[in-house]
Amino acid sequence: MPDITDHPSPNHGERAEGSAVDMLVLHYTGMQDGASALARLCDPAAQVSAHYMIDEGGAVLRLVPETRRAWHAGVAYWRGHSDVNSRSIGIELVNRGHEYGYDPFPRPQMTALTELASAIISRHPIPARNVVGHSDIAPDRKMDPGELFDWESLAATGIGIWPQAVAAETADIPRLLMQFGYDPQADTALAAFQRHFRPARIDGRPDAESARLLAGLLAAA
Ligand SMILES: [Zn+2]
Repeated sequence: MPDITDHPSPNHGERAEGSAVDMLVLHYTGMQDGASALARLCDPAAQVSAHYMIDEGGAVLRLVPETRRAWHAGVAYWRGHSDVNSRSIGIELVNRGHEYGYDPFPRPQMTALTELASAIISRHPIPARNVVGHSDIAPDRKMDPGELFDWESLAATGIGIWPQAVAAETADIPRLLMQFGYDPQADTALAAFQRHFRPARIDGRPDAESARLLAGLLAAA
């Protein structure tokens, strides 16, 4: 585990009865700086929070105990479940995001995330396909942590999946997206998939490579 400093947020509740933690959701803060984000995540009026926040230098704050339901996902969907907050741990990475000046995630921040996420996965039965970005579970509303987030390196440390292409038809994309976990009602699920798993081209258009990578995800899951 990295060094963790407690900085309690009042924004949490009970997890729904019977909900085991089986998802890890990654976010960026999307604000001008870490201090503003921390203030918002601890403001009772804002009604938002996450379990952890990691700054650019790799300092980790615990805002909400893992036993509690933090308020980070909002209206969301993954693999048939909509109360994502009840079954997930949420981590906020300090980054200004697409709105205020999106920067690559610095190495110390990624190192701290890797250590923290490994510890979380050792405590909870979180399958690799349930390590997701906010954009995966709320594609029509959210872009975080975004295409600069290095999911491939994270997967190489055993956290999440990075796909190898296998045979599939472009026409199968809607079915494959749904099978992997995306909301069948979302208009932008394919773009969200590309933002996470094929960041070199995020156009939301069906293509053969997207189909093959999606099939590869399902083969690995
Ligand atoms: Zn988010």
